[in-house]
Amino acid sequence: MKILVINSGSSSIKFQLIDMTDESVLAAGLVERIGDKDGFIQCTLRPETTEKEIVVLRENIADHQSGMRMVVDILIDSDTGIIPDREAIRGIGHRVVHGGEVFYEPTLITDDVLEVIEKNIPLAPLHNPPNLDGIRVAMELFPVAEQVAVFDTAFHQSIPPYAYHYALPYKFYEEQRIRRYGFHGTSHKYVAAECARLMDRPLAELNLITIHLGNGCSMTAIKNGRSVDTTLGLTPLEGLVMGTRSGDVDPAVHAFLARNCDMDIEEIDTMLNRDSGLKGLCGMNDMRDIHAAIAQGSERARLALDVQTYRNRKYIGAYMAVLGRVDAIVFTAGIGENDAVVRARTVDGLEPFGILLDAAANDHRVREPSLLSRVDSRVQIWCIPTNEELAIARDVKSVLG
Ligand code: ADP
Repeated sequence: MKILVINSGSSSIKFQLIDMTDESVLAAGLVERIGDKDGFIQCTLRPETTEKEIVVLRENIADHQSGMRMVVDILIDSDTGIIPDREAIRGIGHRVVHGGEVFYEPTLITDDVLEVIEKNIPLAPLHNPPNLDGIRVAMELFPVAEQVAVFDTAFHQSIPPYAYHYALPYKFYEEQRIRRYGFHGTSHKYVAAECARLMDRPLAELNLITIHLGNGCSMTAIKNGRSVDTTLGLTPLEGLVMGTRSGDVDPAVHAFLARNCDMDIEEIDTMLNRDSGLKGLCGMNDMRDIHAAIAQGSERARLALDVQTYRNRKYIGAYMAVLGRVDAIVFTAGIGENDAVVRARTVDGLEPFGILLDAAANDHRVREPSLLSRVDSRVQIWCIPTNEELAIARDVKSVLG
């Protein structure tokens, strides 16, 4: 069974075609700068094999539909031989950012489902509309394939009310559905399942803290295999310090800036989402650049690293209190998988809680999942590469039976 996974953003589409008989990736790529003159498609064919081939197209890509058409042409081109025709694709998995309170599992897309995703646009105005574009284009281009929505919020629908409610007047929850939802659910769920497999224990018996540190960052407390709390909230802005997003701030910052700095609500929102986080503190949002700047003596870069890793540590403490017993901490995503310094500083000082990092194992960077804790650590520490595309493809397969 071949499954196409689509992550459709406002000006880009990420895709992966996976053969579910052995979970091998047949093609993976990116359509970028949709709507701009300098559109760009990069598609790697058979990326996991020695016959790997990279196809690059630079063309004007007017919209999502023409971008996806070009991708399909690459896949069914007789020279590439990836698939004979469109009908070879059985199912299409769509990453949808916000499922609101309605969707708690991968869902076969029907007109009703589209309507609900549309209704959730106010909760994710930047994400749900381009996700819907991707779905509509795929429905047109692949009329035979089943379309499945996999929601970033779904894994967190098990969070109890006392953890997802904000202490605001209740009417805002009743009328606007303002509450914490959480995101990165596909990634947290995937690494949690992987961790259980690696520990050779049933996920339903494990308490985990999963830490996704990429451009976006979030931490999830998982009790008996289910999400019981997570750091991202109504939108993907709350919690940890991210590349360009602030994470937690005093909510009074909005009023202060409006009153004292003559900023309107759009400017404040943009500042918190795009110009804050690591970038706000030191002008850089890529952790590799931050380390290079620290090596050259930049105090601000050091501060950015300190603020991020301190916040990580603080939330680990909070989630230990939430969970009581923690079996493992899992690091994942760009920073979590690659950055030994961030991992070490995140768990530094947590030894009294039974969290003991093996410094040598932590420094030895590998692409494979690896155990980073000492044998005498009560809490295991893992680094597990996330694979959201495979997780979505597995979800599609399970929905299609
Ligand atoms: P996204 O949230 O966009 O999926 P990723 O999970 O790919 O992001 O993470 C991207 C971030 O990972 C980069 O901005 C960078 O900070 C960090 N990163 C990637 N590679 C490395 C590395 N080798 N060392 C340290 N940080 C890295």
